[in-house]
Amino acid sequence: MHIEFYGATSGITGSCHILRANGETILLDCGLIQGRREEMEKNRRPFPFSPDEISAVVLSHGHIDHSGRIPLLVKQGYQGPIYAQNATVDLCDILLQDSAFLQEKDAQYENKWRKRKKKPLIEPLYTVADARDALNNLIGLRYREKQEILPGVSIRYQDAGHILGSASVEIWLDEKGKQRKVVFSGDLGQYDTPILNDPAAIGQADHLIVESTYGNRRHRDRQNTIDEIGGIIREAAHEKGNLLIPAFSIGRSQEILYYLGKYYDQWELDRWQVFLDSPMAIRASKVYWEYPHLYDEEATRLRKRINEMPHLRNLKLTQTPQESMAINRIKSGAIIISASGMCTGGRIIHHLKHNISRSGAHVMIVGYQANGTLGRALVDGKSLVRIHGDEYRVKANIHTVGGLSAHADIDDLMRWVGNFNSHPQVHVVHGEPESKQDFCDKLASDLKLKASVPMYGDILEL
Ligand SMILES: [Zn+2]
Repeated sequence: MHIEFYGATSGITGSCHILRANGETILLDCGLIQGRREEMEKNRRPFPFSPDEISAVVLSHGHIDHSGRIPLLVKQGYQGPIYAQNATVDLCDILLQDSAFLQEKDAQYENKWRKRKKKPLIEPLYTVADARDALNNLIGLRYREKQEILPGVSIRYQDAGHILGSASVEIWLDEKGKQRKVVFSGDLGQYDTPILNDPAAIGQADHLIVESTYGNRRHRDRQNTIDEIGGIIREAAHEKGNLLIPAFSIGRSQEILYYLGKYYDQWELDRWQVFLDSPMAIRASKVYWEYPHLYDEEATRLRKRINEMPHLRNLKLTQTPQESMAINRIKSGAIIISASGMCTGGRIIHHLKHNISRSGAHVMIVGYQANGTLGRALVDGKSLVRIHGDEYRVKANIHTVGGLSAHADIDDLMRWVGNFNSHPQVHVVHGEPESKQDFCDKLASDLKLKASVPMYGDILEL
């Protein structure tokens, strides 16, 4: 029996690992490689394994960098089961179809110039129809229930506290009387994150595959972050402008809504109109709403209060483009939560066009902004930005709120790994090189664990 490392070994996207035991082959995650164009092109390369040798896919959570190549796998002939936590199944329904839609649009766009230059046309990586085929093979499991998925292979999902349905996976392997237990962290959330439970403690493993996105960094204190958000809302109210919040549709949008609900009175939100202006975020929020049994204690209490006394009564969910465009007429008193999170597309672009040159307007950046994005230009304090080919002078107030990451920081990671009392051998993945190495060193020095960083294609005998 062994593990093969094929993804998130040289960065933080394209999560993908293989376990082989008892004649079975288990694929742990099948994520899309994201980033610049050259990186994305890697998704078109053949898988380093044959799709029909896979016996089962085990998915940790819905994010595209963990799930986004599943439709491709199915398109290439994989017909077996794809296991996921129940809420992940519902979020994948949104995410994979959206990803397929973007793949189709990208291919159309690319083929336009290819046609003009008489170059061979390309096919989308996969289509919406492929994504739907894949979604038919998803099997939902509950947290904390051990399940035999193949002869000699059992799994159990534990809450990872990262997004709704996110899981760490315990995997028991049994081959000719030899037993091994592997734990895959998936993406871990911060402790004390809103809505979700803390990452569940797991006590035992022989081998641990763990993420390290923030393997050498600490997040800002949460209460400071909340106070900062309250301050920005007050400032925007005082200056009588709109407040724009570019946010990822899944996770971050719900977290912002949660805080707006929780601090409704304190932040005097009754004087605002609040818009959730993203069809995908609206759908994701409905999924979050349908899983109250996955909430932490505080969210459960708040949910009861909301049931009794409708909070955020001035929240409008704007589905249609017409409703979205109508917001553009509002010059003051609107909080607009919209995607995309890095201002690379979507409805937020239109709101930025209308507000960015107004001195009373405020933009609150609450998520990571990659190099080269409009969001990054705003964070960097550029005074001129280009939107849809036109230049806009930035007069709005830009605020960067740092503490809302969905990922565990180094203290959270150490705390989570510290729960293991079996001295597992640790394999650090899913981080930038320095972050992985620093985390590895800390595991060795503070917890006396044998930890290493696998390279792409490494095979480890268990
Ligand atoms: Zn994730």
